[in-house]
Amino acid sequence: MERPVRIVSVLFPKPLAGAFDYLLPEGVETFPGAFVRAPLGGGESIGVVWEVSVATPQRKLKPIASLLETAPLLPEVTRRFIDRASRYVCAPSGALLAMAMRSPEALDPPLLSRRLLASGQLPQRLTPERERVLACAQHPLEAADLARRAGVSSGVVKSLLDAGALSVVQQAIDSPFERPDPDRAGQVLTQDQHAAAAHLSDLVRARRFATALLDGVTGSGKTEVYFEAIAAALRNDPTAQILVLLPEIALTQAVTTRFETRFGARPAEWHSAATASARRRAWREVASGRAQIVIGARSSLFLPFSNLRLIVVDEEHDPSYKQDEGVCYHARDLAVMRGHVGGCAVVLASATPSLESLANARQGRYAHVRLTARPGSARLPEIRLADMRARPPERDKWLSPPLVDAIEEKLRAGEQTLLYLNRRGYAPLVICKACGERLKAPNSDSWLTEHRHSGALICHLTGFTMRKPSRCPSCQAPGALVGVGPGVERLSEETRLRFPDARVEIFSSDTVGTPEVLRDLVRRMEDHEIDILIGTQIAAKGHNFPHLTLVGVIDADSGLKGGDLRAGERTFQLLSQVSGRAGRATKPGRAIIQTYAPDSPAIALLAAGDREGFMDLEMETRESMGFPPFGRLGAVIVAGSDADAARQAALLVGSKAPEADGVEVWGPAPAPIAVLRGRHRWRFLVRSDRHIDLSAYLSSWRARTRLPSSIRMSLDVEPYSFM
Ligand code: ADP
Repeated sequence: MERPVRIVSVLFPKPLAGAFDYLLPEGVETFPGAFVRAPLGGGESIGVVWEVSVATPQRKLKPIASLLETAPLLPEVTRRFIDRASRYVCAPSGALLAMAMRSPEALDPPLLSRRLLASGQLPQRLTPERERVLACAQHPLEAADLARRAGVSSGVVKSLLDAGALSVVQQAIDSPFERPDPDRAGQVLTQDQHAAAAHLSDLVRARRFATALLDGVTGSGKTEVYFEAIAAALRNDPTAQILVLLPEIALTQAVTTRFETRFGARPAEWHSAATASARRRAWREVASGRAQIVIGARSSLFLPFSNLRLIVVDEEHDPSYKQDEGVCYHARDLAVMRGHVGGCAVVLASATPSLESLANARQGRYAHVRLTARPGSARLPEIRLADMRARPPERDKWLSPPLVDAIEEKLRAGEQTLLYLNRRGYAPLVICKACGERLKAPNSDSWLTEHRHSGALICHLTGFTMRKPSRCPSCQAPGALVGVGPGVERLSEETRLRFPDARVEIFSSDTVGTPEVLRDLVRRMEDHEIDILIGTQIAAKGHNFPHLTLVGVIDADSGLKGGDLRAGERTFQLLSQVSGRAGRATKPGRAIIQTYAPDSPAIALLAAGDREGFMDLEMETRESMGFPPFGRLGAVIVAGSDADAARQAALLVGSKAPEADGVEVWGPAPAPIAVLRGRHRWRFLVRSDRHIDLSAYLSSWRARTRLPSSIRMSLDVEPYSFM
């Protein structure tokens, strides 16, 4: 009979079934949350100790290989959050751990650099050059940096080192983040803002889990208000950590500056565009508790915070919070879960809250904190509809006569216009005039977009790019390929022709490839060096352009087509946000919305300024169908590279769906994008009543389905994409 031994369960950052057991050798100590190296699949991998226990093993266990002694621990709350989130989103906990370990370098020993510092001992001969070096070396600097700053050769620095006037210090390369100061003066709040800030601050000070919906019209000062909640968290607990989630990393620059002004310290940033060294620094500083305010993309929820006291989800309605590849999760839902696990306050901020959050607020599950007006003299914009059926643009043009008149008026008044069209490139479709062929990405059911600026045809879904061919790939007719419909490039062509004296610029992810270019464009817009800005959705959110008083929406109806369950809601939100760019300072703003469907509820109620009316109508429809937030939805996607095998697998998956009261399964049906990157795709849609644990249902469905290794079955809890 074997005797009891110490067993460590190690979770690896990989989509494996769960934690694996290893033997803890005599004389070695470790704890849950410690990073270790252990044998895995013929090699060694880094994982996290999930549990340490004493038991008699059922089989022979391998010992762990080594401890990563200089790595920080993964806090207990992060581990509990990973376990909870893994069950909810139906993904292996290792796949979520991988999101918590996005900076492998952070586990290495801290990097040190050799720097030089004036020792206080003067050399025998003091030349002006040497004096400059010693003056610069009052702070530790690397030798090359010191020579550059003092304007001397490296020989001068070396001679001072040899003479003992400089000494060597080893300094950690990752400088700590500065401590934010909650007591610097912010804006003087209006009465409404003050009341909202007090409400949120109370929640934060209670140091318990609570969620608030900060529901305020565009430009009402939501940011200023949640700044007060952050200040309250810091005053209540000087070691408090705060996470602010933002949907668009493109905007972090402007936001970072606002944080810096308010708290006197740069916040830590976390997003996929950050360099590996910036990420290592942020990760380690979060783990050590020294990074106190973090602003980041959805994945920052998985950072190793140990004293998180407040999570803010700004623009909580934004669809980009939903990740629908790999591990499918909604960052807003997981933020609330993280708040629950860690016992902290969660603030969801939006001018156009999601139906889900609004329902939670109406039912009293969330506190409902409102801001109904813009501060000072700023007013909400007036919204007018331009009925494209009554006064259409000329042939092959996209600006309707009422919009043209309004732009002319603004140009005369010396004010700015934003034309919003959410289509990158020149034309969203390329067809052959000779044979009618529509150009698609290879092995995918998605159309190619023409980009004139770069001369390329691009698939925005898969990233496939090719030069525009001179002949139709199908019928070989020369010069017969034409772009159909407008993209921002084509709209800019029309605008420049129509208003030759106006300064016109395009603002899309294709024109602002780097943060510097983005900053420069935003600055030129703020300084009124641009008259007409033509932008996609990256121009629609978050910016404050004081001279912008007219917003023209070119194609308000595009989002209503396709008809997924949130089409109306999304259109309403997006158009409110875009319109909200106008009139944010002293001058009144106006939005003109071009539409062929002025009577559709989303558009008619937007024009009437009746958000509550629209939300009531949406709630009724969803309730009658048992859709979220009144029921739950799940999606199952079955994909494989062989068309017939994928279809067979979809039928097999369908036959394994568990029977359960209150659950309906529809499918399999070919996915709307039936082929993507060479994989044939089938979908199921699952609807359940609200009280049902749909995650458990989907996981048990997957567990009872044995599929060949060439077939992938993915689960999406509360899907946002139905493609
Ligand atoms: P929101 O987040 O609701 O869109 P912001 O917090 O960005 O609104 O505020 C919009 C603009 O109004 C910002 O330029 C902000 O500095 C300014 N602002 C907000 N509150 C006040 C106030 N009480 N006094 C002066 N300016 C304010």
